[in-house]
Amino acid sequence: MRAANKVFAGLGTTIFTVMSALAMAHEAINLGQGFPDDEGPDDIRAAAAKAIVEGPNQYPPMMGLPVLRQAVAAANKRFYGLDVDWQREVLVTSGATEALADCLLALLEPGDEAIILDPSYDSYRPIIEAAGAKAVAVALTPPDWTLPMEALEKAFSPRTKLLLINSPMNPTGRVFSREELTALAGLVQHHDAYVVCDEVYEHLVFSGHSHIPLMTLPGMRERCLRVGSAGKTFSLTGWKIGYVTGPAALIEVVAKAHQFVTFTTPPALQSAIAYGLGKGDDYFVGLAAALEAKRDLLARGLVAAGFELLQTDGTYFITADIRSLGFNGTDEDFCREITINAGVAAIPLSAFYPAGSPQAPRQLVRFCFCKQDSILIEASRRLLVWSQRQPASTAG
Ligand code: PMP
Ligand code: GLN
Repeated sequence: MRAANKVFAGLGTTIFTVMSALAMAHEAINLGQGFPDDEGPDDIRAAAAKAIVEGPNQYPPMMGLPVLRQAVAAANKRFYGLDVDWQREVLVTSGATEALADCLLALLEPGDEAIILDPSYDSYRPIIEAAGAKAVAVALTPPDWTLPMEALEKAFSPRTKLLLINSPMNPTGRVFSREELTALAGLVQHHDAYVVCDEVYEHLVFSGHSHIPLMTLPGMRERCLRVGSAGKTFSLTGWKIGYVTGPAALIEVVAKAHQFVTFTTPPALQSAIAYGLGKGDDYFVGLAAALEAKRDLLARGLVAAGFELLQTDGTYFITADIRSLGFNGTDEDFCREITINAGVAAIPLSAFYPAGSPQAPRQLVRFCFCKQDSILIEASRRLLVWSQRQPASTAG
């Protein structure tokens, strides 16, 4: 038999699926894969149910329902002051995962280079490579995870077609500052590159920080494709509604990729998300505040169990350093160990680097905190009990 495409044939199952399966097998609390453990806002779900019953349920317009494209354009104005032409500058996709794939397929050709920042979300590399391009990784360094400008400068070449940035960043919890983004914008313009901006966690940003879309910086409006996700903004990860905002000339090409990847996205869910994006500021502020309280709740529990924590300014992930627990093994071993023997699942950070990467930290694990308080408290208790059983534990 002839070989299948080697990018995909060579891939394993995503770490999120692997850890969720392990958590289920051992009845562990799943703080691995990122998803909320509630059903999402009642009113948005009611709007979707009504739309399914009343229709239409046939193919919606390829670019997305006008009502949702208008809502995305209005949200760009409301939250970031961006003027967006909803007809030509917004595309609706089946989740941010599809949006990212569409953007990369639309921009990249064989021979191109795409700069990504490690730790990076697991879908980026395979799609870049499937498009025939080369992923050029620049590693951020813990615990601060600041943008390494010198390394970035070196990473650009005449072949660099685009850079992909995720802010707020999974798994680091970084929200890049205006200074960092301004420096990056300068480099991008100097090298005449595009930027695919994965901003799925745009509304999950905590006190003292604010999300700045790179697209709002001078000279960047025409270079950026900004990706959002209703899954994150409305705690409805199973719905897979994403959206891309960008200059008309680029969106036109991204839509060509979309038309042959999924073509459309369920109309009832689109209209419900259009309603959601119109919700009052209390919804958006309340979402961030509720998650910030959960971050603090889990952080207290993890510290009590003996972990040292890295700062989390956005997303719903917190990174913990396992060295203080006296565990003898890698981050992967650790996640397996606590899933099986503590009853709590987490994700090893090395999974966000290429296999065997010397840059990958082996001492950091990611916990997801968008869970009910009682679950976070029970997970903390289990980790404390487990850590007290460890011979070299420093936990109290
Ligand atoms: N980018 C990042 C950084 C993510 O964490 C996620 C979450 N799965 C996605 C993209 C994909 O979002 P969606 O579920 O809307 O496809
Ligand atoms: N974005 C989620 C996370 O980082 C996982 C989504 C998935 O399972 N593909 O945990």
